[in-house]
Amino acid sequence: MPEKPEVITVTKKLERRLKNRKITACHVYYEPIIDYPSVKEFSTRIKGQTMHEFTTRGKWIVITLDQDYLLIHLRMEGKFFFRERGVPLEKHHHVVFTIDDEEELHFQDVRKFGRMKLIPKDKILTMPPFTELGLEPWDKHLTVEYLREHLKKKRIPIKTALLDQSIITGIGNIYDDEILFLSHIFPLTPACLLNDDELAAIIRNTVITLDKAIKEGGTTIRNYTSEEGVTGLFQNHLYVHTKVGEPCPNCGTKIVKIKVNGRGTYYCPSCQKQTERS
Ligand SMILES: [Zn+2]
Repeated sequence: MPEKPEVITVTKKLERRLKNRKITACHVYYEPIIDYPSVKEFSTRIKGQTMHEFTTRGKWIVITLDQDYLLIHLRMEGKFFFRERGVPLEKHHHVVFTIDDEEELHFQDVRKFGRMKLIPKDKILTMPPFTELGLEPWDKHLTVEYLREHLKKKRIPIKTALLDQSIITGIGNIYDDEILFLSHIFPLTPACLLNDDELAAIIRNTVITLDKAIKEGGTTIRNYTSEEGVTGLFQNHLYVHTKVGEPCPNCGTKIVKIKVNGRGTYYCPSCQKQTERS
């Protein structure tokens, strides 16, 4: 599943190709992908709108149009492909946007979990997903005080709490392990028991980890010969995630895998020591 850095990289790729261009038609071939409004309203309203700004909120791609925001969630395997206008539809291409009457942007999704919403500008802050999302990792309001306040009643493991998108949005299972490794925190530690130094480390290492992945994503992307098929999982330089049995890059101890709330979790038993509180 793409994580936040991959979503940002895909968004930048789309921006490069689509900024200030107009959606002149939209056809939906698998209706459940359109989450809001109705499929008919979605494809009618979007027609004629120009794509101005490209950004992300949580793991949603957010495209600012003339009257609305187009929100896209790639979920497991959603991908975009550019095609010449009028080419025959390929398998698993579920939504087709015509751009400037010239070419087409195809949304392909083998697993069919991807979702799109078209939300009027004046409603964006009062509707999901924006109402359900916590702070972005780079938000200046993400402070030790904020985290302490939001974790103080959470007895769940910190590993699980960091996946809660209503606190910090954009941390997925992979980078969660990396952030806790860099912060020297045992993943099963109850979130409410972390001290201020540990909370500060989490905030610092979240930014470091995601920035590094975005940078690597940019590097990987340059190896692509076209804009196509970019989902990008840039996991070339992970410290612990998936590294079970390999030596910890810090101390050489073998990395261990456990399950935390059903999610595969990797950590170094020496660097991330289990203490009495966990
Ligand atoms: Zn270690």
